[in-house]
Amino acid sequence: MHHFQFRHGELYAEELPVREIARRVGTPFYLYSTATLKRHFRIFDRAFGALPHLVCYSVKANSNLAVLRLFAREGSGADIVSGGELYRALKAGIPPEKIVFSGVGKTPREMREALKAGILMFNVESLGELQTLARVARSLGKVAPVAIRINPDVDPKTHPYISTGLQKNKFGLDLETAFKAYLLAREDPHLQVLGIDCHIGSQLTEISPFVEALRRVKAFMKRLAQEDIEIRYLDLGGGLGIVYGDEAPPPPEEYARALVEELKDLKVTLILEPGRVLVGNAGILVTRVLYYKETPAKKFVIVDAGMNDLLRPAFYDAYHEIVPVTSHPDRPEIVADVVGPICETGDFFARDRKLPLVKPGELLAVMSTGAYGFVMSSNYNSRPRPPEVLVSGSEYFVVRRRESYARLVAGEKIPEFLL
Ligand SMILES: *Cc1c(COP(=O)(O)O)cnc(C)c1O
Repeated sequence: MHHFQFRHGELYAEELPVREIARRVGTPFYLYSTATLKRHFRIFDRAFGALPHLVCYSVKANSNLAVLRLFAREGSGADIVSGGELYRALKAGIPPEKIVFSGVGKTPREMREALKAGILMFNVESLGELQTLARVARSLGKVAPVAIRINPDVDPKTHPYISTGLQKNKFGLDLETAFKAYLLAREDPHLQVLGIDCHIGSQLTEISPFVEALRRVKAFMKRLAQEDIEIRYLDLGGGLGIVYGDEAPPPPEEYARALVEELKDLKVTLILEPGRVLVGNAGILVTRVLYYKETPAKKFVIVDAGMNDLLRPAFYDAYHEIVPVTSHPDRPEIVADVVGPICETGDFFARDRKLPLVKPGELLAVMSTGAYGFVMSSNYNSRPRPPEVLVSGSEYFVVRRRESYARLVAGEKIPEFLL
């Protein structure tokens, strides 16, 4: 459920017509709904109410400070994957003791920053990283709290680019190497074993891979227990899918029930790292139709947003519903590609899509773009990135302004010898 609904043929974001916001901020822009974000967080968090747990929102899904602050106020922690995300999370007021740090390529500098901040734990993904972390912790006279990320070799049955828990993926450690990592960590005075971690992929629409991964983690924990290695935090990552088109992912309650059932005999605090499921359907991308063009082979609707603003269709061949912001009944239907202005054939939002015959000047909403939308945007083709707008009831707030041309070249310099 989300708060982008039609009323009398007009798309509303909560209590505001999307058309009205577009008139004020221009297009394209991202639009997020406060009520939807809150609702999604609460449903997810309450679903695990029966267990000691901590929701660490996966910052990379949508890292706008306003979104992070909203989740912080709901009691969320953060799952971060870079020093930049640590900076954002702290700036937004997420307490460091609720931050976990994931990712295969943490640099010594990022480790130092996170150790100084006092985060909850590092989800370590290789033996080399473990050694580096111990060295950095020693240099600061600190003890680094660690979990080892297990690669459980479970097929999440999702897009290959967002599968992370298969043996051939770069993420986590196989069980034998992970076991070695735990023994090494136990011996190191600058490391403290605190948890175990796994994250098998994104946009999962079935529960069974999560349960299978959890069973493998549990079996592995038994082995650790035999070595007197105690696990206090069991981090199951994120990955629960959402509805973009005709998917039928389990609701958070069902997902939680299956996990709680597996965990009830364990004395651990469960950590969850949801991203997409919290923010995906809480955002839309609003764009204006520039031109309609017919060629002998195809019809094209050309819009003012491009793959630089929303990469998912080009990158993952992702489906996003596209709807006119104002509906006109009885318009003929066309089958067309919805494309952006960028000089790439991959610059499309939909291909061979059934749409009403839309007119230049009219607004379209690209639905379910709250996750992996703005965060993956770029300045390709020297296009200023679009603003992000947050609606709350009948008010809206520009939470990131549109980039200017000056901002595009702000870090650049023509060297002396060319002057
Ligand atoms: C991306 C990521 C997540 C969030 O994934 P979603 O599919 O958005 O829920 C959680 N944990 C880790 C380690 C990730 O890399």
